[in-house]
Amino acid sequence: MGGVNGAEQVEALRALYGLQEKDLELDRLREEAESLPEELLAVKRQVEALEERLAGLLERQAELQKEYNRHSLDLEDLTAKEKQAEAEQRQAQSAKEQTQYENRIQQIRDRIRELLELSTPLMEAMESLEGEIAQVEEELSQLRPRLEALLEENARRVGGLKETIALKEEERRAMAQGIPEALLKEYEAIRRSRKGTGIVRMRRQGNAFRCEGCNVVLPTHVAQKVVQGQVVRCPTCGRLLLKGD
Ligand SMILES: [Zn+2]
Repeated sequence: MGGVNGAEQVEALRALYGLQEKDLELDRLREEAESLPEELLAVKRQVEALEERLAGLLERQAELQKEYNRHSLDLEDLTAKEKQAEAEQRQAQSAKEQTQYENRIQQIRDRIRELLELSTPLMEAMESLEGEIAQVEEELSQLRPRLEALLEENARRVGGLKETIALKEEERRAMAQGIPEALLKEYEAIRRSRKGTGIVRMRRQGNAFRCEGCNVVLPTHVAQKVVQGQVVRCPTCGRLLLKGD
C-alpha cells in the first residue's frame, strides 16, 4: 500500500476491526443456529433409543410368531396322523398289526405331548414380549409429541436467527465496501487460519507492546510501524495489527 498515507491506512484498519466484530457476531449467530438445544437433543436421543428397542422387540416377536406357527402346523399334522392311525388300527386284521398301530399311536402322542410342553413357554414368552412392546409404544406415544413440539420450537428459533443473520450480512457487505479489497482478502485469509480473528489490537504495557492475539511482546520496529499506521502483521501469530487506544 505504498501510495496510501498512514492516516488513511489507520482508517482502513479501524474499519476492518469493526468489520471483524460483525464477522464474529455472525460466527456466533451461525453457530447458535446450527446447535440444537439440550432438551431437544435429550428427547431426540430418548426417542431414537426407544425406537431401536421397539424394532428389536418386534423382530423378536416375529421370530416367536414364526416358531409358534410352525408348532401349530406340526400339531395339526400330528393330530391328523393320530386320527388316521386310530382309524387304521380299527381296521387291523391281526393282534400283531394291532400292536404295531398301538406303538405308532403312542409315538405320535408322545411327540404331541412334547410339542405341547414347548408351546407353554413359547406362549408365555410371546405374552411378556407383547407387554414389553405395549410399554415401549406407550412411552414413545408420550415422547413423540414432545419431540415434535421441540422441533417446531427449534425451527422457529432458527428461522428468527436466519433473519437476523441475513440482516447482519447485509450490514457486513455495506461495511466491506469501505475497505480496500487487498486488505480485506488478506484479513479473510488470516481469519480462516486463525480461529476467527484476522486483526488484533496492539496493547501497550509499560514500555513494551504486546499483540492481543497471541500476547507476545512485539519487536520495537514492528511496534513502530503499527504506530505509524502501516499495515503490519504480528511476526508470531501472523494477524494484522491495529494501534490500540
Ligand atoms: Zn500475535
